Amino acid sequence: MATQNSPPSASKASLSSAVKARKTPVKAGTLPEIPEAKVITPMGWMHTARFLTTAAELFHLPALDVPEIAFVGRSNAGKSTCINTLTQQKQLAFASKKPGRTQHINLFSLGKQGVTDAVLADLPGYGYAAVPKQDKLRWQKVMANYLVTRENLKGIVLLCDPRLGMTELDEVLLEVIRPRVEEGLNFLVLLTKSDKLTRSEGAKALSIAKLQAGGGQAKLFSALKKQGVEDLAQLMWDWTHTDD
Ligand code: GDP
Repeated sequence: MATQNSPPSASKASLSSAVKARKTPVKAGTLPEIPEAKVITPMGWMHTARFLTTAAELFHLPALDVPEIAFVGRSNAGKSTCINTLTQQKQLAFASKKPGRTQHINLFSLGKQGVTDAVLADLPGYGYAAVPKQDKLRWQKVMANYLVTRENLKGIVLLCDPRLGMTELDEVLLEVIRPRVEEGLNFLVLLTKSDKLTRSEGAKALSIAKLQAGGGQAKLFSALKKQGVEDLAQLMWDWTHTDD
């Protein structure tokens, strides 16, 4: 009889029920499948996101050797809601909205505890009218420097409210990153709040954004309707787990 310390007995009954539980039949001589519970899905991976650090200046950011993906966009574009939806955490990116952190680059680690395999960078939203001009200019510089010089940057997600389209500051940002995108940096224009568009408005906004994205991609996203969430998680996984 099995005791608590002995390994589970491979009785005929338990083997046959284990085999029945598998989706595909097991052939003699094939390798055992990894149990489904241990296979991390892009959404499961996203859910591991946790706060890593915050920095007000570029040189305060730690140099990292894991791939990093930057989320950028004008304030109110839906960036925090997108990050929270993607990571299935209510408060994660709202930490970036806490007083004192709104003008910071906030980094979040991804990967099971102890094995960070990628980082998300939440960059401050730009274009907020109430910010003094001096601060705006300082921030544009920090952000441009980050996007141009960050060595482990593997991709950029530019969030844009399709009802407003690309603003002047979005265009400036596009110009800043264009050379890196042309060199192969992954780039996505994410059209947020797509639940507010009709199907034909969505299709039109998407085709315009695809042109604006240059060598990048464009996708529709709705946190409210959960549209494009898994697709985005998959893309983030692909960007950070494929060699180029
Ligand atoms: P941020 O300033 O870019 O971080 O934007 P927030 O995430 O704070 O979102 C700005 C506003 O847009 C908030 O009122 C959100 O509730 C709203 N919002 C964000 N995502 C969606 C969405 O998918 N659908 C709709 N209808 N509203 C959204």
